[in-house]
Amino acid sequence: MAQKIVGEPRAFNLWNFCYNASMAHCSIPEAEAILDKEFPVLDKGFVRLVDYLGGDQRIVQAARVSYGEGTKSYREDSALIDYLWRHEHTSPFEQVILTFHVKLPIFVARQWIRHRTARVNEISGRYSVMRDEFFMPEPEALSPQSDDNKQGRSDTPFDAQTASQVQEILKEGSQISYARYKQLIDLGLAREIARIGLPLSLYTEWYWQIDLHNLFRFLMLRLDPHAQREIHEYANVMLEITRHVAPAATASFERHTLRGVRFSGPEMEELRRRLGKEAEPDRKEMEGGATHESALSQKELERFEEKLRSGHQR
Ligand SMILES: Cc1cc2nc3c(=O)[nH]c(=O)nc-3n(C[C@H](O)[C@H](O)[C@H](O)COP(=O)(O)OP(=O)(O)OC[C@H]3O[C@@H](n4cnc5c(N)ncnc54)[C@H](O)[C@@H]3O)c2cc1C
Repeated sequence: MAQKIVGEPRAFNLWNFCYNASMAHCSIPEAEAILDKEFPVLDKGFVRLVDYLGGDQRIVQAARVSYGEGTKSYREDSALIDYLWRHEHTSPFEQVILTFHVKLPIFVARQWIRHRTARVNEISGRYSVMRDEFFMPEPEALSPQSDDNKQGRSDTPFDAQTASQVQEILKEGSQISYARYKQLIDLGLAREIARIGLPLSLYTEWYWQIDLHNLFRFLMLRLDPHAQREIHEYANVMLEITRHVAPAATASFERHTLRGVRFSGPEMEELRRRLGKEAEPDRKEMEGGATHESALSQKELERFEEKLRSGHQR
C-alpha cells in the first residue's frame, strides 16, 4: 500500500549515523523504517527504497581511511561531512549507494534516463504486455505554454472548463491507443512491435541504483525550478528518502548546493561594489572608456537580482 512521506526532517542523533558499532555494515534505523514502503508520486506512480549501502558514517570512514582514523564525535563527523561537500571532495559520498524502485510515466523516464551514472533495470515491453495505466495531470498542472520559457508552462493554469477539456482529450487518446495495442496483441503481433503506438503518458517501472554523489547531482538538477514539474515531484520524494539514509550529508547538500547559488566573475564584482568593497576595475574603465556603475549588462543585472531574490541558480 502506498504511503506518503510526512513530517519534518527528524532531529539528528548518534543513532542516525550507524546502528552497529563494528562499522562494517551500517544499518540505519531511520532508513530501515522506510525500506520497501511505497511513497506515492503523481496519480499512479511511486518511489520505494529497495536497499541502501552505508550512510553518513560510511562517508566519514571512507574519508578518514587515509589517516587510519575511525569515527569521532557526532559533531566532528557532521563537520567533516560538511567540509567534504563544501570543498567538493565527493568521492567518499560515492561509497554510499541507494537502490530505488520507481513507477513513472515514460515521458518522465526519458528525462530521468539522461542521468548516466545510475544503473537501471526497466520492465520489458518486449516480454510483458503493458498495463493499461496512463498518467493524467491534475487540472492545476494544465497551463498554457510559457511566454518567457520556451521549455516550460505558464504559472497560471487554465480555467476549470479548459482543463477538463484537456483531460478529456488526453483520456480519449490513451484509451484509443491502448485499445489498438490490445487489438494488435490479439492479432498475435509480437509485443515488442505492438507497443509502438502507445503514448508517453504510459507508466513504466524500473530499479534505479545510484551513489550519493550522483544522486545529489540528480536532485540538484531535478529540484531546480526549471525542471519539469512531474520529475520535480519525484525528486522531492527522493530527497526525503535520502534524508533517512544520510541525514548529515543531505543537510550539507541542501545548505551548500540546493539553497546556494554560484556567482560569475562579473557578478562577484557587482556584489563587492554593492558591499562597498573595492571592485576589480572593469575593462572599459581601464581602457579609458565611459565608466558605468555595474560590470553587468541590464539583462545580466536582472538575472543577478533574481538570483539574489530567489536563491536559485539562473
Ligand atoms: C532543466 C533541464 C533541461 C534539460 N533540457 C534538455 C534538452 O533540451 N535536451 C537534452 O538533450 N537534454 C536536456 N537536459 C538533460 C541534461 O543535458 C543532462 O543530460 C542531464 O541533466 C544529466 O545530467 P548529467 O550529465 O550531469 O548527469 P549524469 O549523466 O548522471 O552525470 C553526472 C556527472 O558525471 C559526469 N559524466 C557523466 N558522463 C560523462 C561523460 N561521458 N563524460 C564526462 N563526464 C561524464 C559529469 O560530470 C556529469 O555531470 C535537461 C536537463 C535539465 C535539468
